[in-house]
Amino acid sequence: MSTRDEHLKPIEAKIVDYAKRRLRVFSGSERLEHSEIGDGNINYVFRIRDPKSGASAIVKYADANSRSSGKALDIDRNRIEAELLRLQGRYAPGLVPEVYDYDREMCCLAMEDLSDYAILRYELIKHKKFPTLADNIAEFIVNTTIPTIDAVAESSDKKRMVGRYINPDLCRITEQLVYTDPYTNRSGRNKVTPSNAEFVKRELYDDEKLRLEAAKLKYRFMNDAQALIHGDLHSGSIFVKGPMVKVFDPEFAYFGPIGYDVGNFIGNLCFAWANACVSIRDAREKEEYIGWLDETIARFVDLFARKFLIAFRQHVTDPMMSTAGYDEWFLSEVLSDSAGVAGLEMNRRTVGVAQVKDLTSLGDTDERTRAERIVILAAKDFILQRRAYSSGRKYCETLHEVAERVPG
Ligand code: ADP
Ligand code: MG
Repeated sequence: MSTRDEHLKPIEAKIVDYAKRRLRVFSGSERLEHSEIGDGNINYVFRIRDPKSGASAIVKYADANSRSSGKALDIDRNRIEAELLRLQGRYAPGLVPEVYDYDREMCCLAMEDLSDYAILRYELIKHKKFPTLADNIAEFIVNTTIPTIDAVAESSDKKRMVGRYINPDLCRITEQLVYTDPYTNRSGRNKVTPSNAEFVKRELYDDEKLRLEAAKLKYRFMNDAQALIHGDLHSGSIFVKGPMVKVFDPEFAYFGPIGYDVGNFIGNLCFAWANACVSIRDAREKEEYIGWLDETIARFVDLFARKFLIAFRQHVTDPMMSTAGYDEWFLSEVLSDSAGVAGLEMNRRTVGVAQVKDLTSLGDTDERTRAERIVILAAKDFILQRRAYSSGRKYCETLHEVAERVPG
C-alpha cells in the first residue's frame, strides 16, 4: 500500500460516514461505495454511491495540506468554493454543479455527481467540437461577475464581500506560479523541455520588456478588486456533455480582474490550438478543427464583450459610472487584461510546474518543441500588445502568423 493510500484510509471512513449522515440522496441507504477520483493538485475528491439505489454524490475534501506539495493550505478554501458554487448557481443557473451540503468541521463539500460529463481539456485533445462552448462560457463570466462590479453592487456590500473572499493562500499560489516563476524561475521548480531550454531563456527569462509588462499585470492581479471571479477558469475546470457545460472548482475565487477569467479561458483554447496545429496529420481535418477553434476563440471574445456591455447597461446603479462612455472604457480595460492574462497563462503552463496535457501528451517530440514555441511567441504578443486585442479575430491572426513563423 502506498503512503498516499495509508494517508487516505481514515479520511475515507470519515467521508462515507459524513455522506450517510448529511446527504439526502443517501437517506435510507445501507451501504455506500466510495472511490477517490481526484486528479487535481490540491484536494481529495470522492465519488460516493449507493449500489442499490444507484444514487451518487461527489464529496470534495480539503485537507490542511496541499495534495501535491504537502504544504499547509488554508482549509477555508473549501468554504469559498461552496459559497461560490451557490452564488454562481444563482447568477448563472445550470452552468455549475448543484451543491448538496457544506460541512465546515469536516472540510467537506458535497455536490452533484457529473461523472457522465467529460473534462473539456481531454475532449479538446481528442479534437472534439462543442458548438455552444463560446456562448456558455461568455454567459457564465458575464452573469457571475456583473453583480459584484462597483457600477452595480452597493458600495458597502461589495467591500464586505471583498473581505469574505480574500483568499490569501490561493492568491499567493497564483502570484508565484503565474506572475513570477515563468519570468524568473526563482523557485527553481520550472519544467522546461530540454529542446526549448535556450529558447525559453532568450524569450522569457532574459526579456526585460516582457518582465516589466508581467510585473504590471501582477500589480493588477494583486490590487484590482474588480469583481468576484472564478480564479481558475482553465479547460480542466469545465465539464462538457454535448451542448451542456458546467464550470466547477472555484476555490481560487477572490475579488480580482475579470480579465483573469476571460484570459484564462482564451489561453487554454490556445493550447488546444497549438496541439491541433502540430498533431493533426490530415490537412483537411486539421483545417476544419483549427477553423472551429478560431471561430470559438473569436466568438467567445466578441460575445463576451457584447454581453458584458448589455448587462452593464441593464444593471448599472452608480450615478457616475452610468456616464456615457464609462462602460466602453471599463470593457476595454477588461479586454486588455484578458489578453495579458491569456499570455501569462500560456507561458506558465508551458514552462511552469503545473503543465497541461495539451502539450505534455505530445511527448518528447519535435511537435512538442514546435507547439511550445508557438504558444510562447503568441503569448508574448498577447502580453506586450495587449491593448490591441480588442477583438476575437486578432488572437486568431496572431496564432496563424506565429505558426507560420515557427518551422515545422
Ligand atoms: P482540485 O481542486 O484538487 O483541482 P477538482 O475540483 O479539480 O479538484 O476535482 C478533481 C477531479 O475530480 C476533476 O478533474 C474531476 O475528474 C473530478 N470531479 C470533481 N468534481 C466533480 C463532480 N461534481 N462530478 C464528477 N467528477 C468530479
Ligand atoms: Mg482544481
